[in-house]
Amino acid sequence: MDTLRLVLDETRRLAGPDANLTGNPFLPTSELQDQAIAEGWGDEFLSLADRYDAVIALALHCPTCSRTYLREHWTVWDAFDDDDGWHDSIRGRCPEAHERMIED
Ligand SMILES: [Zn+2]
Repeated sequence: MDTLRLVLDETRRLAGPDANLTGNPFLPTSELQDQAIAEGWGDEFLSLADRYDAVIALALHCPTCSRTYLREHWTVWDAFDDDDGWHDSIRGRCPEAHERMIED
C-alpha cells in the first residue's frame, strides 16, 4: 500500500504530527478538513482525499493481521447458505491466510 502510505505521509506533513488519521480522516466532517481550510491547504486536502478514496476502493483490511492489502492479493469467493442454497455473502482470505466476510 505504498500509495496509501504516501497519501497519509503527505497529510501528516501538512497537518502536523498530532493529526488524527485514524478511521477515514478524509470524510467531509473530519477535523482534518476544517484544519485544512483554516490553514489554507483546503485544495491540497481535497486532492489527497480523492487519492485516498481511489486507493481505499482497491483495498481490503485484515483485522487479524492489522494490515491492508490490495483486493487483487486476496482470495475471494461467494458463500452460499447450507440450507437453501441462496447467496449468503462474499468471503475472502488475506495473503496471510486469515479469513473474513467481505460483503454480507
Ligand atoms: Zn490477515
